[in-house]
Amino acid sequence: MNPFTWFIVLYTGSALLGILGLWFWYDKREGGSFEKARRRKVFHCVRCGSVYSARKADVSEGEACPKCEYKNYELSY
Ligand SMILES: [Zn+2]
Repeated sequence: MNPFTWFIVLYTGSALLGILGLWFWYDKREGGSFEKARRRKVFHCVRCGSVYSARKADVSEGEACPKCEYKNYELSY
């Protein structure tokens, strides 16, 4: 086989592997994101009204709003 054929084989092979890898990665991420979303802390900014979330374990000190940086406290469910 000439070098160019090898290049094609390796190129298509790695592209297929990449797609497969991404597919598995997204598949895994889909399942995990639901688990994380349940533990996510939700905040509502009383100054600008935006809703945002944080994945910190401890939010007793509050979390600053990404828009106006006003410190809000976790919403109670
Ligand atoms: Zn805000």
